[in-house]
Amino acid sequence: MDALVLHEAGGPLTLEETPTPRPGPGECLVRVRACGLGLTLAWNRTDRVGTFPGRLPRIIGHEIAGDVAEVGEGVGSFKEGDRVNVFFYLTCGDCRWCNVGREDLCDNHTGLVGSQIDGGLAEYVSLPVRNLCHIPDDLGYVDAAITADAVATPLHVLRERAKVRPPETVLIVGAGGGVGIHMVQMAKVLGAKVIGVDISAEKLALAKEMGADDVINSLDGPFNEEALRLTGGRGVDVVVELVGRPDTMTASIRSLDKGGRLVFVGFYDVSASIDFRPSYIMQREITFTGSRYCSRQELAEAVEMVARGQIRPVVTRTCKLEEADEVLRSIERMEIAGRACVEFS
Ligand SMILES: [Zn+2]
Repeated sequence: MDALVLHEAGGPLTLEETPTPRPGPGECLVRVRACGLGLTLAWNRTDRVGTFPGRLPRIIGHEIAGDVAEVGEGVGSFKEGDRVNVFFYLTCGDCRWCNVGREDLCDNHTGLVGSQIDGGLAEYVSLPVRNLCHIPDDLGYVDAAITADAVATPLHVLRERAKVRPPETVLIVGAGGGVGIHMVQMAKVLGAKVIGVDISAEKLALAKEMGADDVINSLDGPFNEEALRLTGGRGVDVVVELVGRPDTMTASIRSLDKGGRLVFVGFYDVSASIDFRPSYIMQREITFTGSRYCSRQELAEAVEMVARGQIRPVVTRTCKLEEADEVLRSIERMEIAGRACVEFS
């Protein structure tokens, strides 16, 4: 089969003919129809958080949709021809967190699709059956692929972690990126007013188009001043941090109203830290929380929301497998608004 193979962290993805994998017990072989390209994948390629020690070469790619092509031993819930998308984390399914539908916190988390096992930048991928999610017949593969992370993650962030309810105001830092643009839509579906923050006119225009009530260009100065002005001096109820630089995190804290929640989702600099006074947090009853990916239930719900048209996947660039390396580098340079996706013919 054709596959893009990563041989060294940060190196190119090279198009190669590799053996088609066979599904082991409890696995399905999936014929890949679409695979999303986003910042998480760009960072995966450069091994920014060290997920590859000793595990290269690797086929990366985790936002996958396709058809089950072959079923391994002991698989009863999927059959050849089933349309699926893919849960990103490799979890056990049996621990105290998996048992309560919080697979994102699995005690026996063994890694990520596309890092610890091969992923979707190839014609076929073999995956544990636990990682597959049925998708409706009328949901396109590109939409289903990017739903697996870019739509499902916002549902977890906003409903589970931030506990957004109407008529709250949500400020999204990085609103024009692949996850951010769906965060904007999800916040609207949950009944919030949305303020989008980003650094290019194109990304801000896209955020507006997808439902943001107001937008702020953070290159014009600290966005907290404009956030306070837009809320009559009160501040916002929720900030979603998809950028996570010291300057944005400081502005994020200063944007919060009393009772506000700040959710850390993405970091440009994984070692970044922030200064804050605990007394300020106490007196204003501010909550800091983190969010990582989603649960299997939330993935299934995200699929349903997209199928119903409540969330519109924003894919601004589709490409062929052999173009993925170049597109991924463009994403790394923050040049692409919304999501990009490889489409297989
Ligand atoms: Zn578990």
